[in-house]
Amino acid sequence: MPIGIGELSRAVKQAASHAGFELVGIAPVQEFAELKYFPRWVENGNAGEMRYMAARDESGRLKRSSLRNTAPWARSVVVCTINYNTAHAYSTEFREPDRGWISRYAWGKEDYHRAVLRRLRSMEEALLASCPSNLERPITRCYVDTGPLVERVYAKYAGVGWIGKNTCIINQKLGSWLFLGVILTSLELAPDLPAPDRCGTCTRCIEACPTDALIAPYQLDSNRCISYLTIEKRGEVPEELRSGMGRHLFGCDICQDVCPWNRKTPVSSAAEFQPRPELMNPALGWLAEMKDDEFRATFRNSPVKRAKLSGLRRNTLIAIGNCREAKFLPVVEKLTADPDPVIADAARWAAANLRMKH
Ligand code: SF4
Ligand code: SF4
Repeated sequence: MPIGIGELSRAVKQAASHAGFELVGIAPVQEFAELKYFPRWVENGNAGEMRYMAARDESGRLKRSSLRNTAPWARSVVVCTINYNTAHAYSTEFREPDRGWISRYAWGKEDYHRAVLRRLRSMEEALLASCPSNLERPITRCYVDTGPLVERVYAKYAGVGWIGKNTCIINQKLGSWLFLGVILTSLELAPDLPAPDRCGTCTRCIEACPTDALIAPYQLDSNRCISYLTIEKRGEVPEELRSGMGRHLFGCDICQDVCPWNRKTPVSSAAEFQPRPELMNPALGWLAEMKDDEFRATFRNSPVKRAKLSGLRRNTLIAIGNCREAKFLPVVEKLTADPDPVIADAARWAAANLRMKH
């Protein structure tokens, strides 16, 4: 007997659960209202130097703005989420002055891109195995951050969570410590209902952002966001934003730490997301003078490698400039003569800051 849409949709959801995803939903491919803001956001320069966000096809259309252009065969988007929270303090509770902060999602033993993609592939196999052999083989594509779509918009319409005023996907039960993975498919699967917005009158994330990157509810200017500045931005960080970066070395969790929906979130049991202790609050002195071979060995299986050694050391020097530890002055003064001009510039700024504080 031929298998129907309902059965295929159930099969893919069962496969998601077997693969370890806590949430899964299906969105139809449509020109959702939120996707119309994306081109304006890019044109206003809010994507900063993230060229992959502003990538265009041969006709000049933004690749991520419409699946109808980039994947005209796609009919459904399966969105899965997996919780990466662990039972450790939030950045808003972190006090040790000679240590820095790496974002919660990057503490794990394996780069989440690989861990999530492996799970998506096992779902993809199960989905294809459920399809009747007498039908044309459906097209499927798995993505973790790299797909030609704005994943959070599809996550909302797949019902896994709403887009918060901090621009993260939030689920009523699981909060926002979620990795997203998507499977695009040519199959017409049974769509779920969109998740309703539960931010209400809350504005905590907007008030807590130290660099005013949330320029309005639901609107992020990446150029001001610490996540962007510490990971994507190459070269010098604009001076007026450095003090707001605090001791953030890679990413920023503040607008999620203060979110009431993250007050009682469950913790992940996935082995890959359990933290490596040395990445949770790394010593600033360790990273400031890190060499290339140690950087590669330490961050080989970590998303932190995206910042590159120069970026991580630059961020560390800014963090040192923001801490009150005079003990760093000798190393910072030495680094003002570093052959990397970005490091030398950050070291000069840090040295001036430390001298001013003492
Ligand atoms: S990640 Fe940090 S800097 Fe970016 S919007 Fe959230 S609080 Fe602001
Ligand atoms: S802090 Fe408040 S406004 Fe911001 S995302 Fe959470 S619930 Fe929404």
